Amino acid sequence: MTATRVLVLNSGSSSVKYQLLDMRDSSRLAVGLVERIGEETSGLKHTPLANGGASREQTGPIADHEAALKAVAAELARDGLGLDSPELAAIGHRVVHGGRHFTEPTVIDDTVVAEIERLIPVAPLHNPANLTGIRTARVLRPDLPQVAVFDTAFHTTMPESAARYAIDVRTADEHRIRRYGFHGTSHAYVSRATAHLLGKDPSEVNVIVLHLGNGASASAVRAGRCVDTSMGLTPLEGLVMGTRSGDTDPAVIFHLARVGGMSIDEIDTLLNKKSGLIGLCGDNDMREIRRRIDQGGEDAEQARLAFDIYIHRLRKYIGAYYAVLGRVDAVVFTAGVGENAAPVREAAVAGLEGLGLAVDADRNAVRSGEPRLVSPEGARVAVAVVPTDEELEIATQTYALVESGKSE
Ligand code: ADP
Repeated sequence: MTATRVLVLNSGSSSVKYQLLDMRDSSRLAVGLVERIGEETSGLKHTPLANGGASREQTGPIADHEAALKAVAAELARDGLGLDSPELAAIGHRVVHGGRHFTEPTVIDDTVVAEIERLIPVAPLHNPANLTGIRTARVLRPDLPQVAVFDTAFHTTMPESAARYAIDVRTADEHRIRRYGFHGTSHAYVSRATAHLLGKDPSEVNVIVLHLGNGASASAVRAGRCVDTSMGLTPLEGLVMGTRSGDTDPAVIFHLARVGGMSIDEIDTLLNKKSGLIGLCGDNDMREIRRRIDQGGEDAEQARLAFDIYIHRLRKYIGAYYAVLGRVDAVVFTAGVGENAAPVREAAVAGLEGLGLAVDADRNAVRSGEPRLVSPEGARVAVAVVPTDEELEIATQTYALVESGKSE
């Protein structure tokens, strides 16, 4: 029997998201989520899509990631999809930070684990959680190929002129301070899918990708390679996000410390968790912000200001990346806001006809899960909506690596 299944694991500090895919047709056999690991009220939701089954949910203490993965394995086994199945080809792990070292998906061994560990100082929140998932999965299936797919990998092609901050070179190098970028798996998948939507090979097109979820980032992709992206050393830089400020004058931090008396940890929390849309208007969900604006009245004012600041920053990045690329074939919107919020897409390109950018109102209003054009017929630059699929991309990269290893 050929092994064609890939389990994709996305391990966060207190959660594990997973999907089991069959790579013969990229179909999803099961999806699920373990939340609140380490608490009394941990929850597991498992949906066996292959068997058309209804979701199964359980709550109760799940002590750690090992217990979480064992619970996931038990759920999969109930559907005949267990981790011990000979049809399982590999496990693909999402790893947030691969530094400069990991430019491609990589089969995990002890050296790779050590290197991901070495990157913890630049990804203190994410890499430890990703590592816990990797270690646990390796204990459960030591014989199975496990692959790390890095959020940063797609951005490692950025030239030094885009990747470096203009700070003292020796200090920057000593502390590995540079722009790494994140959401790379999504930018890679969406830029490629956009080329296909245009009937072109990725090497033939220049694309600006706007990944607008709760976290948000933009990238400039020339002929399939990333040449700039808006997130930097950490995911804090760039666009206005759900709870992150994006770009600010770094001196805001000195000011808050010296004049505001805040600690570094307090400022970290302020800029990462209490800023962006939620800091501006009390809501981080674009649906709620649009509802407040559409309802009007007093409640609309702050929501409108938050929306305008969000759009202003987005337009600045579209303009910047237009200049970085010189020629742009497509601007593409993806992730929760990008795929669903027609008013955001409309406002982002309003008045940019001079750059060849416009949306057609009817096309933009269509709701669909399919990749589609929203620009007018015959537009010089395509404006597109392409739903992202990070799990499929991780599974595809994982499977390709494992298969190529076999033929060597
Ligand atoms: P992440 O993966 O970063 O958590 P998603 O890509 O799932 O985020 O995007 C989540 C966000 O998408 C929500 O916070 C919300 O603002 C936005 N969103 C989801 N559906 C809609 C919608 N129908 N209209 C506007 N915004 C939406």
